Amino acid sequence: MTASGAKARLTLITGPSGVGKGSLVKKLLQRHVGIWLSVSATTRIPRAGEVEGQHYFFLKRDAFEKIASTGGLIEWAEFAGNLYGTPRKPVEEKLANDNPVLLEIELEGARQVRKSFPEAFQIFLAPPNFQELESRIRGRATDSEEAIQRRLIRAKEEMNARNEFDAVVINDDLEIALGEIEKLMGFEFEKK
Ligand code: ADP
Ligand code: 5GP
Repeated sequence: MTASGAKARLTLITGPSGVGKGSLVKKLLQRHVGIWLSVSATTRIPRAGEVEGQHYFFLKRDAFEKIASTGGLIEWAEFAGNLYGTPRKPVEEKLANDNPVLLEIELEGARQVRKSFPEAFQIFLAPPNFQELESRIRGRATDSEEAIQRRLIRAKEEMNARNEFDAVVINDDLEIALGEIEKLMGFEFEKK
């Protein structure tokens, strides 16, 4: 386990649904234009405002399975009833060009990446407590009650895995969490 990912070209952020991964990654990309975020494929239905190719590549299940079965994804997993995966080609191209690559994925995928890219620096983003996590998921108001329940059950499993990661960052205050992640990635002196 490394104390800092400052030299890692591949950084992975995981953590339970609703913890703030998307909010944090958005700010990170605004502040560090050199970081490239992988766009995942998913079978989930788009949420209001989500754009094809920008937030996700939205696929039918059979199309997703075909890509996965032909090695087109570096990892994939089922999460709360939908499939999610990281397209292989763009990640490999960016890494070959020495670009900093960021993945924002769930636990099972993170475990697969740990095996195939052991040099990746893996950050677990945790909520200050479980009640706050639930209120963030509900406050986001994008998921059905059934989807919320599935995400909360899965969140408990994910929280139990936090010690597998190179670093754990608590997202209580977003700016503080962002600063910690910038420091871990070695970007603290490169703010726009
Ligand atoms: P994730 O991508 O991990 O599922 P989101 O980024 O969608 O999570 O955040 C879930 C909700 O929590 C959003 O409504 C977001 O605005 C809110 N949120 C994120 N970080 C914080 C924070 N530090 N304090 C309070 N609310 C937050
Ligand atoms: P959401 O439906 O809220 O966008 O995402 C649900 C979960 O899927 C989140 O924890 C998110 O990090 C994860 N996820 C998004 N893309 C991928 C991916 O490519 N692979 C894996 N394994 N998980 C992903």
